[in-house]
Order: sequence, then structure tokens, then C-alpha cells
Amino acid sequence: MIETRKIKIIMLTLVAIITVIAGIQLYQHRHYDVPIVAGPGVTKVGKLSDYYEGIKGTIADTNVFFMEGEEEGGSMLVIANTHSNEIVAGLTAFMIVENAVVEKGRLIVIPQFNNSGGRNTRAGDGYPLYFDIDTPWGSKTFRMGNRDASPLDQWPDPDVYVHYPEGQLLSYMDVRNTNRTWPGRSDGPLMEQVCYAAMELIRNENIDATLDVHGAETLFPVTNCIVAPDKSMRIATMTSLTVKSKEGFDFHVEPSPSGMRGLSHREIGDYSDSMPFLVEAPLPFLDQPTGPKTMDLLLTGRDPFLLSLSKKGMLFVPYDEEGWPIERRAGQHTSVVLELMNQMARQYPEKEIVVSGIPKYKDVVENGIGYYLTDPSTVDESRIYYE
Ligand SMILES: [Zn+2]
Repeated sequence: MIETRKIKIIMLTLVAIITVIAGIQLYQHRHYDVPIVAGPGVTKVGKLSDYYEGIKGTIADTNVFFMEGEEEGGSMLVIANTHSNEIVAGLTAFMIVENAVVEKGRLIVIPQFNNSGGRNTRAGDGYPLYFDIDTPWGSKTFRMGNRDASPLDQWPDPDVYVHYPEGQLLSYMDVRNTNRTWPGRSDGPLMEQVCYAAMELIRNENIDATLDVHGAETLFPVTNCIVAPDKSMRIATMTSLTVKSKEGFDFHVEPSPSGMRGLSHREIGDYSDSMPFLVEAPLPFLDQPTGPKTMDLLLTGRDPFLLSLSKKGMLFVPYDEEGWPIERRAGQHTSVVLELMNQMARQYPEKEIVVSGIPKYKDVVENGIGYYLTDPSTVDESRIYYE
């Protein structure tokens, strides 16, 4: 009897110790802020709550960076970290905000769209909590977030998520997924409010093109591509053909299915005048049959299991011993951003955006991402924001 009690006490103590250690790690991760430098082209920094007050003071509020040209032209909104486990998106946004200078038109960037998701993790899948990017001034540590907002911020989940306003039945978890809660509503769950605020931004700022930046599994057909509805299809197709011929990388086009609701590439187009695009980079880390989910896999995309699957023709992207380095993925995204602007100007000359400073595919592959990140200790404090 006494023996059993002893074992119970030891077990309880062990569980308590593990809970405390894990709790401290998760608390620190949630509160770790990544500095972002407002580059030479940033003319204004606002908040998403400027467009819908309801999210002010909540963890859902997030920074909005404006790069405005002297001359009037088109406007593009770039949304990153809708899914913060797709780290290529945030890195692309950082490179744009810290380097882009707009001469004509406007470029608006939200680097951390689902801020709650960016401070969440998927413990059961053993995600790393952080990852490091080498820069000429040392390594910079970023948080790795999750696909969904934290239940700490939006709870409880329904049994089934009934999409607003279409009424389509979606997975219960998608109520915390800001790529299922578009176009949102002001009195819905917090993530619907986030999308509602962004819709208000798109409508009030007359955004011509909205780009939602992602990454996706190599075993999933919608990867390494631009997803576009009919209204954006011509520009997406021309962009895909042009980057292939001029810059040498494949980036195919997928049509946005009209029957799948809640997605940015569907609802933004249906509920505003903006042309939506969603870009997916290959993301081997998210594939299920891989080795350990390490920072190395996250950054290099190199995995022996995926390599053998690729030899059997089961991947939807080219794949060899080199994997899919993060530089290639981020470089494709920056080049696609620039080409989308070019193609928009070709089709609608009054919507031209003239921008310099954003590195292209070749530059990022050659120099690395860190080369385009600014050392926060070298700039005035007023230029530093936190994501
Ligand atoms: Zn995604």
C-alpha cells in the first residue's frame, strides 16, 4: 500500500516538473518579439485595428507597414504569416519591409497576419520553437509559429465550423485558421474579426492586388504555385510564364475553386474590388513522411524519405539531394511579388507600382536571406517594430 502511494507521488512530481519546464518554454515563446526594421521606403506604420477597432488591445492586432510613392499608381497588399509554420512567408515580408523603396503607387505589408498563431506551436508534432537565419552581423532568431491561432486566444472550438456568410461546414479547427475565416465579420470569433479588419483595409485603401504568402507540402498538388480566381487569372498566368522564361524557375498556376469557402484567394475577390493571389512555396518540413522535425529540415528542406519518394515520382515538385533551401523558396516569392506588379501594370497602366530594393530570386539564392536583413542595433530606435 505504502509502495503504491510512493510511486504515485513520484509520478505526480515528475509530471509537475515536466509541466513547469514546458510551460516556461511556451510562455517565453509566446512573448518573444522579433525586431523588424522599417526600411528606407517605409512611410508610415499603422495597426490592423485602425480598420476595425474591435481587435484593438487584443493579441490579434498586428503591424501594417506602408511604402508609398510620390507618384500615384496602383496598390498592393502583401499578407504574410497567415500560417506562421510556413516560415518562408514571414521572411519574404521582412525582406520587403526592410529594403523596398516605392517611387510610384503603394505597397502595404502585414508581416504577422495571424499574430496569435505566430505565438503558438504544435507540441504534438515536435516543431522547433525558433529558427535562426545567418546574417553578415550575426544570426537572427525568429519564432516558428503554428497554422492556427492559439486556443488561449480563441476558445472553445465548435464541433463544426460553420463558415460565415456562406454556411459551408468546415473542420472545427478552421475557426482558428485565418485562411478559412475570410471575409470575416465584426462580431464573429476573433479570427473572423482579423479577416474582417483586413477586408476593411482592402476596401478603404482601394487595394488593387492582394497577395497572401504561404508554403505547402511537396506531397500536395497545390504547391510551388500561384492560386488565383478568374479575376486574377490572366495576371497570374503571365507572371508564371514570365518568371519561368526570365528567371528560370517553375511556378505554375492553380485556379481558386469557387466551392471552397473562407480562403483568401476566394473571398477577397468576391467581397472587394481587389484581385487576390495566394502563393505557395514548397515546404518539405510539413510533409508527413520525414525524419525529425528539426530546424535544419525547416531551412534546407533536405530529407532522405522525401528523396526516395521523389524517385518514385510521388512529389509535386522537383526534388534532389539539395532539398529545397529556404533561399530558393523566399527568392521565388520576392520575384513573384515583383512580376505580379509588372503584369498588373501591363494590363492596367494606371495601376503601375514602381519599386526598387526588393531582391530577386537570383539575388536571394546567391546572397542568402540574412544579407537583406538589417541589424537593428545600427538604426534609430524609432525605426524598430516588433512582430
Ligand atoms: Zn498556408
